[in-house]
Amino acid sequence: MRVGEKTSRTSEAPILVAVEKCDLCGGCIGICPTDCIVLTEHNLMIVGSECIRCGLCLPACPVGALTWNDGDVAAGQSTEAGDNGK
Ligand code: SF4
Ligand code: SF4
Repeated sequence: MRVGEKTSRTSEAPILVAVEKCDLCGGCIGICPTDCIVLTEHNLMIVGSECIRCGLCLPACPVGALTWNDGDVAAGQSTEAGDNGK
């Protein structure tokens, strides 16, 4: 049932992985509080259903490979606890 294995982009993932930038260093994985960043053999995937949109992974990436799926600015996003989905 997997769609779009070629890139890590899925319609439900709030975070996108720029696969051309990502060197699979794994630096973002330990940061994620819900462990929804998964390193596969040749790819990094975000499990969208588990992502709480905390944004912690974005500045953790040394090469800027992670971005919001909806085009929001990466770093400096303060999403306080609670629902403020616009
Ligand atoms: S935004 Fe937060 S929950 Fe979502 S992948 Fe990044 S660190 Fe994990
Ligand atoms: S920190 Fe960046 S380069 Fe490293 S695995 Fe995560 S997305 Fe890829």
